[in-house]
Amino acid sequence: MQDNTQASKPLYIRLRANDNVAIVANKGGLQPGAEFAGGLRLIEQIPQGHKVALEDIAAGEPIRRYGEVIGHAAKPVAKGSWVKESLVLMPEAPSLSNLPQARGAQIVQEPLEGFTFEGYRNPDGSAGTKNILAISTSVQCVAGTVDFAVKRIRTELLPKYPNVDDVVAVTHAYGCGVAINAPGAAVPIRTLQNLARNPNFGGEVMIVGLGCEKLQPELLLPEGMASPADDSDIMRMQDESLTGFGEIVDSIVAMADKRLGTLNRRRRETCPAADLVVGLQCGGSDAFSGVTANPAVGFAADLLVRAGATVMFSEVTEVRDAIHLLTPRAVNQGVADALIREMDWYDRYLQTGEADRSANTTPGNKTGGLSNIVEKAMGSVIKSGTSPISGVLSPGERVRDKGLIFAATPASDFICGTLQLASGMTMHVFTTGRGTPYGLAAAPVIKVSTRSDLSERWHDLIDVDAGTIATGKATIEDVGWQIFNLILDVASGRKKTWSEHWGIHNSMALFNPGPVT
Ligand code: CA
Repeated sequence: MQDNTQASKPLYIRLRANDNVAIVANKGGLQPGAEFAGGLRLIEQIPQGHKVALEDIAAGEPIRRYGEVIGHAAKPVAKGSWVKESLVLMPEAPSLSNLPQARGAQIVQEPLEGFTFEGYRNPDGSAGTKNILAISTSVQCVAGTVDFAVKRIRTELLPKYPNVDDVVAVTHAYGCGVAINAPGAAVPIRTLQNLARNPNFGGEVMIVGLGCEKLQPELLLPEGMASPADDSDIMRMQDESLTGFGEIVDSIVAMADKRLGTLNRRRRETCPAADLVVGLQCGGSDAFSGVTANPAVGFAADLLVRAGATVMFSEVTEVRDAIHLLTPRAVNQGVADALIREMDWYDRYLQTGEADRSANTTPGNKTGGLSNIVEKAMGSVIKSGTSPISGVLSPGERVRDKGLIFAATPASDFICGTLQLASGMTMHVFTTGRGTPYGLAAAPVIKVSTRSDLSERWHDLIDVDAGTIATGKATIEDVGWQIFNLILDVASGRKKTWSEHWGIHNSMALFNPGPVT
């Protein structure tokens, strides 16, 4: 990266010595004739975040960013010109056979000792960053009623229980009218089972069902609780002992009251940072994502892993083109094979829908300078840092290992967030370039912007400005430590994120790869 402390001069950001393109750093872009410190002169206008050719590139030659081939030139590209999306022919995804072998066990990291947070210890040994009552639901039919009951619970009950942060209805569109025995159904079902066990829900389970649905409520009880003798955690709206809507709602409110009393007796206690389960995600990415926000999050991810915590990165379509960079980081060949298995599953899933990974990039990504999914993926995986990958989860599986975990999910923001919550995430770190007001009810979301203009414009939505890395005001390490410390503060309830402050609670979204009937 060239010296960019004087932001008024034409500046580009080149990531690797052998890259033949760089991105324009200046706010508002640059005009033809603009000359960089090294003598390169622009021959056309280039918007901020878009790529400039650092040398002449012949038709068919590779275009390199991040030291990786992000495409091939569709026609000759002159030095100093704008490397537009139409000039970048997308390469094939890396083959899933003959990938580099697992060598992650050789990665040496110094342990990071002494970092703690004030969390809620659960009976199963996990620790929450919040003390929330979750009301699980087995079918969409009950969602409106549960939402109605939650309004009453918030106004009538929560004031009596000051140590409880919130009550959350886990409502969704699944549960009936679906092929419940199809192989794909396992994903939404285990997602709902595991959501109820999220550490931020304190081990208190209650499920509201209808009665006649395909997904019978007892299927959602955590393992070991599914005995028909103990049905006290389930209420069915069609239960013949309930007369009218009023009694149905009263019954839900009464179940909640009992559990809120238990949750209210809990207090925060000092927990090692190793008890954190942090999920990483990006959304509304731009060309700066892989330069500022994601590298800073990657640095924070390494700190968390060194402190013994669990860190999950996800979004299969955004790592698929970087799989050759991930298999060598697997701690053993079993983990490398699991990575490949998840990529292969998703390739086939996309094929079934007659789509491929190129369907991932959005108009906003492209306006932000990202030509294709390969370039987006190279910037996306940087948020996983440099730690060895110690485990792989299929969508919605509960996390079993400490360290850096690949939790396979779609890249769709709310589906990814929901699946990471099911895996046990208690804190979410979300990077954005274009800007999104993303928020979750079940876990705090720290939003990191890739550019300072976004964090200035959205001063009351963005928690961390990583754009300071591009303007030279801060280093990747500075912002990485800032994110790490903010994670500990938010996990302890000492600080609130903007999405918590405003109560921005986007709905959960299940991933259902199975057929609907
Ligand atoms: Ca995403």
